[in-house]
Amino acid sequence: MQERYYQKEIETMPVEEIKKLQSEKLVKQVKHVYENVPYYRDLMDQKGVTPADIHGIEDLHKLPFLTKADLRDAYPYGLLAKPLSECVRIQSTSGTTGKRVVAFYTRHDVDLWEDCCARAITAVGGTNEDVCQVAYGYGLFTGGPGLNGGSHKVGCLTLPMSSGFTERQIQFMMDLKATILCCTPSYAAYIGETLQEQGYKPEDIPLKAGIFGAEPWTEEMRRGIEQTLGIKAYDIYGLTETTGPGVSFECSEQTGMHINEDHFLAEIIDPDTGEVLPEGSKGELVFTSLDKEAFPLLRYRTRDICVLSRKKCSCGRTFIKMTKPMGRSDDMLIIRGVNVFPSQIETVLLNEGYQPNYQIIVDRVGNTDTFDVNVEMNPDQFTDTVSGVTALEKSLSEAMKTMLGINPKVHLVAPKSIVRSEGKAVRVIDKRKLH
Ligand code: ADP
Ligand code: ZN
Repeated sequence: MQERYYQKEIETMPVEEIKKLQSEKLVKQVKHVYENVPYYRDLMDQKGVTPADIHGIEDLHKLPFLTKADLRDAYPYGLLAKPLSECVRIQSTSGTTGKRVVAFYTRHDVDLWEDCCARAITAVGGTNEDVCQVAYGYGLFTGGPGLNGGSHKVGCLTLPMSSGFTERQIQFMMDLKATILCCTPSYAAYIGETLQEQGYKPEDIPLKAGIFGAEPWTEEMRRGIEQTLGIKAYDIYGLTETTGPGVSFECSEQTGMHINEDHFLAEIIDPDTGEVLPEGSKGELVFTSLDKEAFPLLRYRTRDICVLSRKKCSCGRTFIKMTKPMGRSDDMLIIRGVNVFPSQIETVLLNEGYQPNYQIIVDRVGNTDTFDVNVEMNPDQFTDTVSGVTALEKSLSEAMKTMLGINPKVHLVAPKSIVRSEGKAVRVIDKRKLH
């Protein structure tokens, strides 16, 4: 496939020029925030830093961090940097890890966000010949509006389906010949499963590519979705606090997601000490939005754990790449003192031939954590004898022990008994928090 770019000059700009552009934008942005956001000005004053100390990206480390707690503290208007009369949009986080936060956008902010999404759609081969089915939720959640805007910019025929009503998704996909599907990976898997049940083979499905993100997903899950839908599946990343999806996106090389560095300046820090780590280190991703007007967060700690790399990419883009975040620092469960990420469990399941339909239940009895994983049986196992099922559960539990270091109690449950997700999947029920 011939590589396509939405804004070639920017996307393939020499690294030195990107850094220069970032420096210029940062100096302006710090001034804008200092003058208009008393909340952040106070943080800067406490650290003894003023806009005059920031001459370029090399001074970024002098600025204070912002965290989700700050956003909740400052809710709703405390971090706003423009009068509301200049704002045209509000979006909100999904509230996956607590109280929702709201973000504001001027016309310029919506425009740059949609450009980012248009770059992502173009990178998967999207053109005005495509029919782009947007099955992310519309509304306060950024997924639907972001990809919708990007799809318009590219000139695709946009199908604003929103999430849910899976039968209708399939009917429109087939009747209107959708070629690009945008939704969460868990919803893509569900759509694929439903198509399969209806007797569709991958070659019957008009889709050629999918843009899936908003939640962690494994390579194994990617392969599963690609096979059932007969497509190439691409990752996309973003968060409401910085705009929404499109902060970074995958290109044809599929070895990480290019960060739209003309708008977002990325750092990796040690989540415990806040120390900035060199390129190639694994740590917490921190973003500074360089030219957003209404809600310009500086050094925002995402809690997403990943690695950055500026290795040359075969697609020609020069933007730095981030690895797929395999969980946020606060997704990590500590069970009997051992760190467990849901994505590790998903990897084991897919390797062992199961579907990624599972739920992790953690509780505490006395002083000991209990750790149970419900996994759907494959239809052919459903008829197994009780002892047959027990043996399967045991072997799955052993495979998880090899990956995690501790044994969960695995329960194979009937096919289709775990509720399917149309948005972000809920994988963990931690009852310990309720105590
Ligand atoms: P919430 O934090 O309430 O889920 P958002 O809807 O803004 O709010 O989601 C942003 C978060 O979703 C990111 O910080 C990240 O943890 C997760 N995320 C988004 N895209 C991806 C992706 N491609 N891979 C893994 N995680 C992702
Ligand atoms: Zn690339």
